[in-house]
Amino acid sequence: MQVNLNGKVALVTGASSGLGHHFAQSLAANGAVVVAAARRTDRLKDLVDSIAKAGGKAFAVALDVTDTASVRACVDEAVKLAGGIDILVNNAGIAIPNAALETTEQDWNAVMDTNLNGAWHMAQAVAKSMVAQKRGGSNINIASILGLRVATALPAYVAAKAGLIHLTQALALEWSRVNIRVNAIAPGYILTEINQDWFATEQGQATIKRIPQRRIGSPKDLDGPLLLLASDASSYMTGSIIAADGGHAVNSL
Ligand code: NAD
Repeated sequence: MQVNLNGKVALVTGASSGLGHHFAQSLAANGAVVVAAARRTDRLKDLVDSIAKAGGKAFAVALDVTDTASVRACVDEAVKLAGGIDILVNNAGIAIPNAALETTEQDWNAVMDTNLNGAWHMAQAVAKSMVAQKRGGSNINIASILGLRVATALPAYVAAKAGLIHLTQALALEWSRVNIRVNAIAPGYILTEINQDWFATEQGQATIKRIPQRRIGSPKDLDGPLLLLASDASSYMTGSIIAADGGHAVNSL
């Protein structure tokens, strides 16, 4: 899929691995200048180099979304390096699977701090920079179908992703007047480094059989919604939640 993101700057959180790494490459391949942000800046070097080698432009910036000082510093640095931000991909996220009765306060807080509070702090800091520069923009939150329906042993994760979906709509409502569109992608199960071993197990294979399309997604399957929401092709879309899940969320089980 090809869209025109020439002249746009996209900040991608959690770009050091998995979906964030892929999103950074897709946005750059479609013309955006990418600011790749993550805690492990050493892991961003190869990404920035590979984007440059493919003819694109990218910067690496340190970011811990759970630390508000780091969030502010990252946004300031991105504006300084790239001139401003047009697209935010709020991708950083963690999952700590455990039964509700066994979930510790520490694990609950870690998931909330990253997946919900982190996304909020990034959205607000980037929106303030967009408003200050009077440039408007697009905020794309990476939620999950587990924000639309629940699963066992992920109480904080499902609550945080449901919160992120509601936050997406609340921000869309408020920020239309400053020309910032806020939408979310709700991926189903997508094969990344973090889950590939699990999907190779018997339980993982059984999960794949419950997906109507009978296959797990690949990061490329998210390019359509990502590039749609990043580009002017979605100029009349805000507050939308796009599931990209092979039909998983509509399977009644
Ligand atoms: P991943 O673990 O490969 O990527 C997550 C990224 O977030 C990593 O680069 C990690 O370093 C970063 N991160 C974590 N905590 C951070 C913090 N405090 N500050 C900055 N960066 C931080 O996993 P992934 O599968 O690529 O997931 C990316 C996003 O997609 C997550 O929000 C996840 O919930 C969501 N998602 C993934 C799937 C899937 O099946 N892979 C499905 C639905 C939603």
